[in-house]
Amino acid sequence: MLGFRKSVSALLAPALLVVLSLGIAGGHVALSVSLKDILPNIPYVLTLLALLLGLWFKRERVIFSALPLGFANLAMLNAWPQVPASGPMWQIAYPALCLFLPVYLLSVAFFRDCGLLSLSGLVRVLWLFLPFAAVLVAVDDAVSVEAQAQMAAALHFRPFSTDLDFWSHLPQPAILLFGGATLILCGRFIFYPTPMEGAMLGTMASAWAALHHVGDGVMASLLLSTALLLLIVAVVQDAYHMAFLDELTGLPARRAMNTQLGRLGKRFSVAMVDVDHFKKFNDAYGHDVGDQVLQMVAMRMARVTGGGRAFRYGGEEFAVLFPGKDVEAAKEHLEALRQAIADSSFALRAEGRPETAPKGRNKPGSGKKTKTVSVTVSMGVAGQVEGIPDPDDVLKAADKALYKAKENGRNRLVSDRPTI
Ligand code: GH3
Ligand code: MG
Ligand code: MG
Repeated sequence: MLGFRKSVSALLAPALLVVLSLGIAGGHVALSVSLKDILPNIPYVLTLLALLLGLWFKRERVIFSALPLGFANLAMLNAWPQVPASGPMWQIAYPALCLFLPVYLLSVAFFRDCGLLSLSGLVRVLWLFLPFAAVLVAVDDAVSVEAQAQMAAALHFRPFSTDLDFWSHLPQPAILLFGGATLILCGRFIFYPTPMEGAMLGTMASAWAALHHVGDGVMASLLLSTALLLLIVAVVQDAYHMAFLDELTGLPARRAMNTQLGRLGKRFSVAMVDVDHFKKFNDAYGHDVGDQVLQMVAMRMARVTGGGRAFRYGGEEFAVLFPGKDVEAAKEHLEALRQAIADSSFALRAEGRPETAPKGRNKPGSGKKTKTVSVTVSMGVAGQVEGIPDPDDVLKAADKALYKAKENGRNRLVSDRPTI
């Protein structure tokens, strides 16, 4: 039953898309001809896509960034098709949006992803909708003209000379807010250089440019589409990273290796690498120190020479692929890597410094004041041979060789050939 439901949900999106394109092809769904006609609607499609992806991958920051961009597109096209205009929509709603958007998008960048149905989720929804509702009330006919004039004057407060207004319709404080928010997001990106932080920065700049182009619906829609696309691409990149990169070490993970194994040519070799006596090491120093050591070993592994590609295979096991190289050619690079790891002293962060020495081969420095530790690794390498096309067999052979390396005393490299 579960299998059937799974198949139905997996087929749903492709089926809908195929039916839609068949409908278009058969002329049942009218197709707009010019890009200028289509463009203003693209932000809505992208907003919907961003919402779905945000919900699917639990990226609330994407959801909360996309929603106001969709609203902004609606307002840019319908409320201010030509500018400058008169009336409360132009005098109040436009500057209000210009002041609100940078503050709002900046606050979203600092949100931590939390469930939409939680209390903070609710507060975030209110933080988005209440200012929009307040503006709708403010521009209503029921509000006196004097009160609206006062609001308009407050929203157009000018810290600098009016001579500067020729440059943009944005109120001066909004330009300052957008500029400041963009700078803050630049700083955030330097600290956290992830696709999502990059997208938040790009979204802020594109939203600024879109509001600047008020009165030019096509240009505004193009810029808002860019902002939304940045968010969508970031979710996809994030999902890719989650699937293919190991979180602890940053190395490509086992899934990435399996994908590459399927694409290798006739000649390649693969090494399995395992940290020696790591359990004892963990027991003596604690799991956090163990994690630090794995990160440092991974950094060495990533620098393997000879065109080798390092992966975290799982736990304290790594793998190195050498596309186009046979075992003999790979061996010298692996030997150099093994030696480099054995020769390295890994400095530990203060709170994780060991207090007692572990038994076994991995040696601490000098008791309580130890600041560095060292580890060794064992390696097994095997290569592809003619007539055995299955990379899994090569992997098994490398594993067998690794087992032998352990048996023979660890901290060594053993090579093997796949069994036929
Ligand atoms: P051998 O030399 O035979 O490989 O001995 P070993 O102790 O390294 O091997 P074993 O497989 O018995 O132990 C592996 C240990 O690695 C067990 C587990 O606690 C530890 N380990 C696996 N993954 C992680 C991790 O992500 N972080 C930390 N800190 N420890 C890990
Ligand atoms: Mg192991
Ligand atoms: Mg081990």
